[in-house]
Amino acid sequence: MNVLICGGAGYIGSHMAQYLAEAGHVVTVLDNLSTGHHEAVRWGELLEVNLLDAEGLERVLQGRRFDAVMHFAARSLVGESVSHPYSYYSNNVTGTLNLLEAMRRADVERIVFSSTAAIFGNPQSDVIDEAHPKAPINPYGASKLMAERFLADAAQAYGLRSVALRYFNAAGALPGHGIGEAHACETHLIPNVLRAALGQGPSLKIFGNDYDTADGTCVRDYVHVQDLARAHALALEFMDRNEGAHTFNLGNGQGFSVHDVIATAASVAGVAIPYEVAPRRAGDPARLVASSAKAREQLGWQPRWTELAPIIESAWHWHRDQPSWSPHHRQTGHPTQAA
Ligand code: UDP
Repeated sequence: MNVLICGGAGYIGSHMAQYLAEAGHVVTVLDNLSTGHHEAVRWGELLEVNLLDAEGLERVLQGRRFDAVMHFAARSLVGESVSHPYSYYSNNVTGTLNLLEAMRRADVERIVFSSTAAIFGNPQSDVIDEAHPKAPINPYGASKLMAERFLADAAQAYGLRSVALRYFNAAGALPGHGIGEAHACETHLIPNVLRAALGQGPSLKIFGNDYDTADGTCVRDYVHVQDLARAHALALEFMDRNEGAHTFNLGNGQGFSVHDVIATAASVAGVAIPYEVAPRRAGDPARLVASSAKAREQLGWQPRWTELAPIIESAWHWHRDQPSWSPHHRQTGHPTQAA
């Protein structure tokens, strides 16, 4: 297939490009490089276009025939979305609308959309399935929920086929392929913990230890980025068989607290990881754990990275051996402080 990966220079999008190329598909990456890296585009042509540039999008979609689009291009940080909501609604809502309109005009009828557990808000059950109420508590979640609504409306109005995949916490890397999580401004837990293990970056903070969880810190469901990529590939096959707009939750179904992550990372890295406890971060629910039963049944998806330690280990290798283009390499020099 000929697949357009919007946001293919970013963390999950670059792993998607590797996965599709290895499976024999032709990949084109569209990215504005605002947070992605052109060095991470290694499996297809890079088109530097912003989703807010409707004319540029139109030119890309009219210029060649794509069988499907995968849409990862979004702002995705919960805390930042609380402080800069307009930027989230503009990129994630208007940008998605522009993309869908360009697809409609070019008769591209299939899209896999990156959604998120943040659409659910504060969980009302131990594990979250697709039927759980959608009540986002931050602009990031609200922007993604709105985009899911576009997909449902587009199925009705234009016959668009779509799969929205709601990731819980994407983690890990494929260091052997030279790709991993490389954000200039890193806010995610596992990279921050691993950078602390390497003696890099600011001191590690635990955002709140007074949540209603076993050890007081937030619980998340960490799923390997390669497992996410495989789910997208299965979604392409699913759309061959199914019309309409579909949603699936993707996680391992196991919750790990911030303390669990720090302890596992310390054991993977073989060093003690210092931290301090800080106030809660705005917009963080206490616990987010997926039920992926529907994805298992209907997509035939089964995560292969089911344990936390190997997930963290894959990220550890990436962080330890950062390529020269990584912002963390540039900021700190090549890490030498830990084995
Ligand atoms: N967190 C933390 N310290 C950090 C980064 C994150 O304590 O330096 C916590 C955060 O408050 C949340 C969990 O770790 O409870 C996972 O956060 P992350 O940003 O990785 O993912 P999110 O769940 O927000 O998508």
